[in-house]
Formats: sequence, C-alpha cells, structure tokens
Amino acid sequence: MQEKGSISIHTENIFPIIKKFLYSDNEIFLRELVSNAVDAVQKIKRLSSLGQYNGSLGAPLVEVAFDKEAKTITISDNGLGMTAEEIKKYINQIAFSGAEEFVEKFKDAKDAHELIGKFGLGFYSAFMVADQVEIQTLSYQEGAQPARWICDGSTEFEITEGSRTERGTSIILHVNGDSEEFLDKYKLQGILDKYCRFLPVPIKFGTKTEYDYEDTAVEEPVEGEEAKSKDPKEIELDNIINDTTPIWTKAPSELKDEDYLKFYSELYPMSEPPLFWIHLNVDYPFNLTGVLYFPKVKNEFELQRNKIKLFSRQVFITDEVKDIVPDFLMLLHGVIDSPDIPLNVSRSFLQADSNVKKINSHISKKVADKLAELFKNDRKAYEEKWSDIGMFVKYGMISEDKFYDRAKDFALFTNTKQEHFTLSEYKEKAQTLQTDKDGTIIYLYTTDPAKQDSFIQSANRKMYDVLLMNSPIDSHFIHTIERKLEKTNLKRVDADVVEKLIAKDEKIESILNEEQTTSVKTIFEQAISKPNMNVKVEALGPDELPVTVTMDEFMRRMKDMAAMGGGGMGFYGSLPDTYNVSVNSNHKLVSRILAADAVDQGTLAKQAFDLAMLSQGLLTGADLTEFVNRSVSLI
Ligand code: ADP
Ligand code: MG
Repeated sequence: MQEKGSISIHTENIFPIIKKFLYSDNEIFLRELVSNAVDAVQKIKRLSSLGQYNGSLGAPLVEVAFDKEAKTITISDNGLGMTAEEIKKYINQIAFSGAEEFVEKFKDAKDAHELIGKFGLGFYSAFMVADQVEIQTLSYQEGAQPARWICDGSTEFEITEGSRTERGTSIILHVNGDSEEFLDKYKLQGILDKYCRFLPVPIKFGTKTEYDYEDTAVEEPVEGEEAKSKDPKEIELDNIINDTTPIWTKAPSELKDEDYLKFYSELYPMSEPPLFWIHLNVDYPFNLTGVLYFPKVKNEFELQRNKIKLFSRQVFITDEVKDIVPDFLMLLHGVIDSPDIPLNVSRSFLQADSNVKKINSHISKKVADKLAELFKNDRKAYEEKWSDIGMFVKYGMISEDKFYDRAKDFALFTNTKQEHFTLSEYKEKAQTLQTDKDGTIIYLYTTDPAKQDSFIQSANRKMYDVLLMNSPIDSHFIHTIERKLEKTNLKRVDADVVEKLIAKDEKIESILNEEQTTSVKTIFEQAISKPNMNVKVEALGPDELPVTVTMDEFMRRMKDMAAMGGGGMGFYGSLPDTYNVSVNSNHKLVSRILAADAVDQGTLAKQAFDLAMLSQGLLTGADLTEFVNRSVSLI
C-alpha cells in the first residue's frame, strides 16, 4: 500500500504561515498532541463500554518521549488508532477545512491559542517545531492494517503501510533546527507540568517510548542517568507525570479538608494555608467544576492576581481568567475547569459570550453563599477571619452591586474596640446617639487610631462609636457605604471638634462674651500667624481640649484622592493643606490666656496650638524645634 496525495487546501504552503504566527507560543504543540492522545484513549474506553469494541483495553497510557540523537519527539497512545481512510478524513481534510479562512484572517490573530482552536489546527501545531511529522497508527477496528502518514511541512503527504503492532497511535516529530531546545528533559518536563499535570489519562515521560522498546532491544541502555539500571516497566512507574483525578473532578463528599489543603500546597508551594475554599460543581446550564481558595494575605501589597488556573477537561489553558472570574475575585486562588468556555477566541468575544457571563455571575453567587454560610454557622470564627476576608468582601461590594446586595448581611464593621457589627446592627447601635439635627446618622471612623487618639477619646466621652477604616480599600468602601445607605454619612473622627462632628440642636453656652471671644481669636491668629490655619473660637465642653486642629472631611477626601492619583483631582492636590483651629472658649486655659499680660498671651496661645499640632503628628521641622526650645524655657 502506498499513496501520495495533496492536503486539500487551496493555498500553497500554509505551514510557513503557521510557523511564523504561532512561533511565540510554539510550546503548545505538546498540549495539542497530548490532548489528542488523551482523547483517543478516552474514545476507545467509551467504545468498549458501549460494546462497540470487544478487545482488551490494556492500561490506558500516553507516552511522551524524546531522542536527542535522532532529534525526535514521540507522542504515543494506546487509544483507538486510525485507519488509512480515517487519516485522510481527519488529518488531511477536516483539520484544514478552515484553512482558507485562516489565511484570510491570520493577520488579525493575536495569539496562537486563538488560531489553533478557531481553525482546528490542533494536530498541525506539530509543524511549529517539526519539519517532518510522522503518524504510525493501528486502528481498533477488526482487520485494520497499520498505517503510516508522513508529511514534510509542504502540502504533500504520503500514506504507506505502518509498522505499529499494537492498537493506538504514535506521532513522531522530526524536530526542526530552530526548535532543538525542545529536545531537552527539563524543557519538556516543564511544558508537560504546565499543561498536562492533571490530564485524565496517565502520561509517561521518558527518553524512549514503549513503542520504541518493541522495535529496539530492551537490553539497549536507555538514555538518562536514572533509567540506566532499570527495565522499561520500572521506568514506566517512575515517570507518570500527572495526577489523573485532581480534586476538582471528585465529589465534595469524597474529600476531606486535608485533601483541599494538600492540593493548595501543591499548586502554591510556598504559601500559607488558605482561609477556606469553595468547591464549584455545576452541570446546568453550563459545565463548570473547580476549587477556589481564599488565600491568606498579610497585606494588600501582596495581593496577586492571575492565580486561578483555567482548565478545559483537565487540560491547562491559561492563568489569565480575566472576564471569566469576576474582577473582584481575581484575588482568589485555585482552578476552574469548564469545557463551555470558548477558549480560543478573542477577549471581546469572551466578554460577550453568554456562558462566560453566566459563569461569572455563578462564581460570584457561590462565593457569596459560602461567606453567608460561614457567617451563619460560626460567627465567632468568621469574625476572627474577618481581617483577611474583609478585603475580598469590601472589594466585591465596591465593584459589584449584585454582590453588595448579597454581602450586606455578612459584611462587618469593626470598631476601635475590635467589636464587629453587621451593617444593620451598626445602624441600630449608632442611630440613637449619632443622628444629627437633620436626621442623618453619622458614622465616625479613624484611619489611624494612634495618630487620631485624642479625637477618638473625645468621641468616646460622648459615647460615640468609632469605626476602624485603616486599610487602603476602606476609602473606597466608605464611598460605597454612603452611596448605599440612606441618610448616613461617614466622617473621620478628626474632621471637626466633637460637638460639630455630629451637629445637634442643643447649644453649649460660652462663658466668654462677644468682646472676649474676639480678642481670643486675635491672640491666637497673631500667635499662630499662618494663612492656612483658620482660627475659630467655639464653645465646647470644658473637658474638651483647649485647641483642636482639624481638616474638613470633604477637603481631606479630595486631598487623599489627589494623593492617590485620582483623575481630575489635580486642583485639590495643588491646594495647601488648610486646617481649622478650634479654640475652646470654655476651657480654663483659654480664660487664663485672656487674663495674662500681652507677652504671655502670645507664648501660651502658641504653646497650646503647638500641643494640638503635636498630638496629631503635624508638628515638624523648625516648628517642632521652636516648640521644644519654648517648652524648655517655660519649664
Ligand atoms: P481536534 O482534536 O480538535 O479534533 P486536531 O487537529 O487536534 O483537532 O485533530 C484532528 C483529528 O485527528 C482528531 O479529531 C482525531 O480524529 C484525529 N486524531 C488526532 N490525533 C489522534 C490520535 N492520537 N489518535 C486518534 N486520532 C487522532
Ligand atoms: Mg486536538
């Protein structure tokens, strides 16, 4: 039997095009060929279970081997094999049915994945690394003859009688001069680890294949140090490189916590154990399995995106899961496996794909369900984990309204006393004392409990509660909360003197008359003598501080945003820091200053102002030096 023919495409020599455009991603030839081998093994299993094949199956196996001297890489399987007719049908024609379209569109293609899948070029990706590709195959069908196909990268191919004696297929790549890097144990091992680590059929990796052993004498030493003293069977055992049943393919009921933790440490060897995980298992309206982990992160700067691996039927595809996983969950780790995600199409298509949208919202819902369950089942444990979980939840609430609605029942506020409240519990707590005269509830918060301590103490004296909002995400979270909660405002605890933070109707009487008030103002203005310090004399409780320096909430937020590089905030960024200096007319010290002689008035006012600045860490440089010198002389 010998037949020569032409691969049925209308364009001469498509291979140079493939090589050129797929070059950067050429390692995926191995993924494609091993996937085909795995498919072939699974097909024969299915045929057997359907009673359409009655021969013995043997242990399912795919083998990848390379021979440095012969410059070959061989991918063999004991799958269903092909007859010569099938080769013509599946390899020569079908695979290239999209070739014309391919040539027309290749200019727009962005990466190899896109081309390979879209045009059914899986098998032909072999030509990215080989200048000659050979198929040796024997079909499972009764009376089938072994067949051999060989093609040198032109459109000419040749089919002759093959030499295979056992059912299955071997693809032999005669590696081209530019691709000799692939004739390396570590290189191939690395690619197999990346794409084939969880394939459902055992994959053996070595320097020669079982198929070769039949051809050559078993006694012949096998290349590679370890292998030398062992017989082929042992090598087979040693070199299975994949886990055929990774945990996401199993039912959650079969798995223990240890299994999840072990899998996590296999995927992310140096990481701390995860906080918890979610086992995804959907079969309608789309197919999706996977395990997502909430990583333990020490700080936000450590957050790593692209830690979720996307698989399709256990074949690794990518760790760029953007668009498939909701943006705020990109911080999660783990795996997702779905045959329903169109893997080989452009990003914009992916975003519009309805399955992708469903998957996206399903994942978001599952995560919310899991959190709700943790919260409900063991609130204490949940609260203990809140400092880690909170970041995800807040991020989710900020970025997705739907998630906000689900999360509002298990999102927590933490106050300076480390007590936790749900949003509704907190409203309950705050509304009695912290509602202002217009009926707006004011939530007070601190971004830095140490620096803002004197303000926190003032608030606590009034029985006001102060929330901790000290992570970078909180400034965004505050905006979301204000947008979502009715008649609720958040104010940083140092945004004003305590009496004014939450404006009430009751008014504290000043012990100073109008004339005295004016002269206190003048004394302080002259003593401070800084244009960005806006002095006000106000009647506060006698226990409150004599002088308080504050920055208006709105002003401060604008400045914060400008500092963070917020768009359009340049104007606020360019303003000098403007502060309000509130002088408490009811404080003893203020009466004393008023009663002092002219020289002392200035010194004492300056001293009281500097103390206020000092308590907030605002006193620096020459002002600080001057303060120290003045304090020494006052002592
Ligand atoms: P796809 O895998 O998407 O069908 P490929 O180009 O990878 O496209 O393969 C084309 C066809 O060639 C396969 O559908 C299959 O029928 C056949 N084929 C490829 N490799 C093998 C193999 N190892 N064993 C049996 N058939 C194979
Ligand atoms: Mg394929």
